Amino acid sequence: MSSNPLLRVTHLRKHYNVAKGVLFAKPLGQVKAVDDVSFTIAAGETLGLVGESGCGKTTTSRLILNLEDPTSGEILLLGQPIHGLRGEALRTYRAQVQAVFQDPWSSLNPRMTAGRTIAESLIVTGWGTRDVIAQRVRELLDQVGLRADHANQYPHEFSGGQRQRIALASALASRPRLIVLDEPVSALDVSIRAQMMNLLKDIQGRDGVAYLLVAHDLATVRHMTDRTAVMYLGKIVEYAPSQSLFAKVAHPYTKALFSAVLPPHPDRAEEEIVLSGEVPSPMQPPNGCGFHTRCPFAISRCSTVEPVLREIAPSHFAACHLHDG
Ligand code: SF4
Repeated sequence: MSSNPLLRVTHLRKHYNVAKGVLFAKPLGQVKAVDDVSFTIAAGETLGLVGESGCGKTTTSRLILNLEDPTSGEILLLGQPIHGLRGEALRTYRAQVQAVFQDPWSSLNPRMTAGRTIAESLIVTGWGTRDVIAQRVRELLDQVGLRADHANQYPHEFSGGQRQRIALASALASRPRLIVLDEPVSALDVSIRAQMMNLLKDIQGRDGVAYLLVAHDLATVRHMTDRTAVMYLGKIVEYAPSQSLFAKVAHPYTKALFSAVLPPHPDRAEEEIVLSGEVPSPMQPPNGCGFHTRCPFAISRCSTVEPVLREIAPSHFAACHLHDG
């Protein structure tokens, strides 16, 4: 892991108490949505966070966006803890860490022109005079491949791809260090996904912005990321440079996830691993390895001893007893 990262996440936990009833709520237990997760993101790199829905990747990104407080653990941006920030310090953090979500409809106000949407955060932070902000909006529209006159149009006048470009321009307005991309292309037509991914990469190459890419589409993750973390039941089970991960998967869960959606390498005879059983309830995760109830390779200690994330090859980490060494 990088020694001087842009973002450092250390032993992050987010547990929710679950109760039944309203007036006399009866505690039912706890959901460990995020359970001891650590990773780093360097300036200008893209980290992919993948896993099935409910694995904790969205909660992790909400914690990084400072929309919720963690149960324990720490998130540091440039060495500074982010939770507990208030007032000006919180506004500065929000300018440095932005987000683009899957559905641009939900992030765009239908009654605001594209220009006003992009200018909004600049106005709030007192970026400059009206003319300076108007100039910055034109620059941003150009940066995301839109024309200056698009500033006067409303969201319904744009295609899905164009709306996502406006959401991106709005996220870029405050010159962030990190953008959380939560399924940024999955609502787009396949034909324009590649354009959006290339645009994101171009912007990163030019501005040095880092991305946390939360996605279930592994083709997008493979194309976009430098490193990838795979989550299962609130934990990272594999974490590696994307090139080495996609070339040689180590964890049985990652194998299953990848074999279900990515075409096998033409030179390797690999069978698709079909998982049996449902994802266990995060309120009652299995003892030992959380994946043992579905793992085709489980051995006896998998049901009693929890595997730890260990380095199995340079910078390649996996939590699985098959790699205990
Ligand atoms: Fe499968 Fe055991 Fe490895 Fe868990 S620790 S992934 S159950 S082999």
